[in-house]
Amino acid sequence: MKKIDFRSDTVSWPTPQMREAMATAEVGDDVYGDDPTVNKLQELAAEMTGKEAGLFVTSGTQGNQVALAAHCNRGDEAIVGFDSHIFKYEAGGAGVLSSITVLPLQTDDIGRLDPDQIRQFIRVDDPHLPSSRLICAENSSGGNHGAALPVSYFKELREVADEHGLSVHLDGARVFNATAALGIDIKELAQYVDSISICLSKGLCSPAGSIVVGSEEIIYKARRARKMFGGGLRQAGILASAGILSLTDMTQRLDQDHKCAKMLAEGLAQLPYIDIDPEKCYTNMVFFGLTEDAPMSETDITGRLKDEFDILMGGTYGAGFRAVTHYWIDEDKVAKTLGAMKTILTQ
Ligand SMILES: *Cc1c(COP(=O)(O)O)cnc(C)c1O
Repeated sequence: MKKIDFRSDTVSWPTPQMREAMATAEVGDDVYGDDPTVNKLQELAAEMTGKEAGLFVTSGTQGNQVALAAHCNRGDEAIVGFDSHIFKYEAGGAGVLSSITVLPLQTDDIGRLDPDQIRQFIRVDDPHLPSSRLICAENSSGGNHGAALPVSYFKELREVADEHGLSVHLDGARVFNATAALGIDIKELAQYVDSISICLSKGLCSPAGSIVVGSEEIIYKARRARKMFGGGLRQAGILASAGILSLTDMTQRLDQDHKCAKMLAEGLAQLPYIDIDPEKCYTNMVFFGLTEDAPMSETDITGRLKDEFDILMGGTYGAGFRAVTHYWIDEDKVAKTLGAMKTILTQ
C-alpha cells in the first residue's frame, strides 16, 4: 500500500491471513448462539483474560454500552474520567440508552482517577441522590497520549470498589497495547476488574468488532443489552474468524508498533518548529504541535503531507497532531514520513 495512514489504528486493514480465515470461516446464526466461530472467539477471549465468558459486539462503543447496561440499573451512577471515551465520545450513550448518570472526575497526567477522590464522591443512600454503582477506567488512556496504566492502579480501584460494593469496568479498547508496553499478561490487570471491552479492529487489525469479557452473569445481561441496542448479528463468524487471529497473533506484535511510534517521536523532536516531548510516547500514539514561531499552520502541514506525500495525519480534538502507528506502518514508512516533515518544515 502506497498511502501511509497515521490517522488512527482503526484504519488498519485486515491482514491476508484474516481474509483467508474469513473466506473459509464456519458460520451459524449467532443470535441463536449457533455460530461456532463466534463461540470460539468468545471462549478464547474469556480464557486469555481469566474471565468466565465473552461476548462479540459490533464496536468498542457498543462494548462499553452493553457493559454499562449490564452493571447498572436505571438511575445508577457510573464514575468515569472526565477525559474518557465513555464520557466524551459515545454520544451520551449511558444516559440515552440505559438511563445511567455519569459522574466525570479529574484524572492525572496519564489518565488515572484518584482513588481517594472516588471515595469522596461515592453517594450515601439517600432518595435525593443517584446510586453509585460502577467505576470505569480506560487503558491505554487515549486522552493521555496512549499512556499504559500500571497494575497497581487497578488494584487500588478494586479496593475502593470492594469497600463500597461497586463494580469496575475497564474500557480496554487498546488494552493489549497497554499490556505490551507494561510487559505483563492481561490476566494480571483483568483480575482486578469485573468486565473489559476490547477492540479487535484497532491495532489488532480486524475489519470490525470488539469483545466484552466478564462473569457469566454480566455477559448474560450484556447479551440482552446487545440485542436491545441492535447489535445481534447472524453469521458473524466471518468477522469473528478475523477476531481470533487478532487475539492469537496480533496481540504478539504490538511492540513493533510502539517501536515505530518511538522512532517517529524521537525523529520529530529533531525537527525545527516541532513541539513534542518524546518521553510522552507510551504505546502507539504520538502527539505533537507546532512552536509559536512556526511559519506555517497545522492545516498547511497536514495538507502538504496528503497532497505531496500521500501521508494522512490527524488533528487532535483540541489542537495539534496525532499520529497512530499500526500493522501497516513499518520503520521505512516512519523514515519516509520524517523526511516529508523535514522537507515541509525547512523548504
Ligand atoms: C476507539 C475507542 C472506543 C470505541 O471504539 P469504536 O469501535 O470506535 O466504537 C472506546 N474506547 C476507547 C478508549 C477507544 O479508543
